Amino acid sequence: MAYIEPAPIKDKENPFESMMSRFQIASQALGLEDEVYNVLKNPTKQVIVSLPVTMDDGTLQVFEGYRVIHSNILGPSKGGIRYDMDVHLDEVKALAAWMTWKCAVVDIPYGGAKGGIKCNPRQMSAGELERLTRAYTQSMVEIFGPDRDIPAPDMGTGPREMAWLMDEYSRAKGMTVNAVVTGKPLVLGGSLGRTEATGRGVMVSALAAMEKLKINPAKATCAIQGFGNVGSFAALLLEERGVKVVAISDLSGAYYNQNGIDLRASIEYRDSHNGSLNGFSGTENIDGEELLTLDVDVLVPAAKEDVITIHNAEKIKARLIVEGANGPTSSKADAIINNNGIMVVPDILANAGGVTVSYFEWVQNRLGYKWTRERVNRRSDRIMKDAFDNVYKVSLEYNVSLRIAAYIVAIDKVAKTYKFRGGF
Ligand code: NAD
Repeated sequence: MAYIEPAPIKDKENPFESMMSRFQIASQALGLEDEVYNVLKNPTKQVIVSLPVTMDDGTLQVFEGYRVIHSNILGPSKGGIRYDMDVHLDEVKALAAWMTWKCAVVDIPYGGAKGGIKCNPRQMSAGELERLTRAYTQSMVEIFGPDRDIPAPDMGTGPREMAWLMDEYSRAKGMTVNAVVTGKPLVLGGSLGRTEATGRGVMVSALAAMEKLKINPAKATCAIQGFGNVGSFAALLLEERGVKVVAISDLSGAYYNQNGIDLRASIEYRDSHNGSLNGFSGTENIDGEELLTLDVDVLVPAAKEDVITIHNAEKIKARLIVEGANGPTSSKADAIINNNGIMVVPDILANAGGVTVSYFEWVQNRLGYKWTRERVNRRSDRIMKDAFDNVYKVSLEYNVSLRIAAYIVAIDKVAKTYKFRGGF
C-alpha cells in the first residue's frame, strides 16, 4: 500500500505523531484499502468560531474556539473540551481521532470529537469563564446534540463548565437536555462511579494482563507515575486486589517504600496540601525518572504524555506497563519495549474506563433513570475485560503488540461500519 505519510523521523515526537504512526502500522497490518484509510485519516467536520466576551473590567476580548468531529461513523461523536493557551487546530484534530479509536476499542456506539478554546482559565474569573462557555455553546448549538455530538470535560474544564454548557444548550432548545454533555455534577445527571472510572479501568486491564503473564497480584509490586485522578484511584483499587504499590509520584517528586506506600495517608496528605505530595513522609524520596525504571512487576504511567522514550525505555524493568495517561510512550520506544518482552496495555484500551462511564451517564440521562454505583462498576468492568480479551486475541492472531492490536480492533470496526453505511 502506498501511504503518503512517512513515519516520524524527528528525534522528539509528540503524542499525536506517535498515534498517527501506530494508526499507519495497524492499517497496513489490517490491509486497509487506501480509500478507507483516507476517509479515516481526515476529520469529518472542523469548526472554528470567534467568541466575543465582555471581561470583568468592561473590555471586550475575542477568543477562538474549536470543535473537530473526527468521525461519526459508529454513532454521535464524543470528546472533551479543553481550555488552554496551547489549544490549536492540529492538536484538536489529533485528539479527536484518538477519541474515535478509544470508543471503538471498547465497543461503545460513539464516534470521536474534541473541542477547545484558546484561553488561560487560571487567569479568568468564574464570571468570565461562564460567559465564555455560554458563548461557545451558543455558537455550537447546531453542532452539539445528544444524537449528534456530546462534549465532556478535558484539561481546564470540569463539572462546573459542563453544567453551564448543558444549561445554555437547554435554553437554546427550550427544554432540559442533560444528555447533551457528560461529566456533569451528580445533581444535574452526572453518573455515580465516573470520578474513579478511569483508574478502575486501569485496574481491570492490569489484572487481566497479569493473568496472561501469570503474575500473582498478591505477590506483585507496582509503581505509579502521577497521583491525580487516574493514578490515585488505580493505586487504591490495585492495592484492594493485593498488589503492593511501592512507589508513587507527582510534580513534587517521587516517593518509595519497599514495604508499600500507605495510600490512604498519601491521599489524605495530598488533599490537605493543595493537591501536592510535597513533604509527604514515611517514604524514601527518589528521582521522578528513577520511578520509571524501578524493579517492579507493573508500571502505571498516569501523569502525562511522552515520558517513556528512546532515552529510558531500555532501562525499564517492569514486566507490564499499563498506560493510564494518554500517549505516555513514544512510538519509537515501542520497538525497544517489545524487544525486551514487556507487555504494554495501551492508552486507548487501558484508560477507556472514563469514556465508558461517560457513555453510561448519557444512557442514564436518556433513560431518565439513575443506576447504582454497583451497576455502573459491574458494567464498566465487564466492558473493560471484554475489550482486553478481544485485543489480546487479535494480538495473537496478527502476531503484534497489544497496542497495534488495539488499533487494529478499532480501525477494523470503524472501517467495516463505514463500508456498510457507504460514502457518496
Ligand atoms: P490530574 O491532573 O488529576 O493528575 C495528574 C497527576 O500527574 C498529578 O498528580 C501531577 O502532579 C502529576 N504529574 C504531572 N506531571 C508529572 C511528572 N512529570 N512526573 C510525575 N507526575 C506528574 O490528571 P488525571 O485526570 O489523573 O489525568 C492523568 C492522565 O490520564 C492524563 O494523560 C490524562 O489525559 C489521562 N486520562 C485521564 C482521564 C480521566 O478520566 N481523568 C481519562 C483518560 C485519560
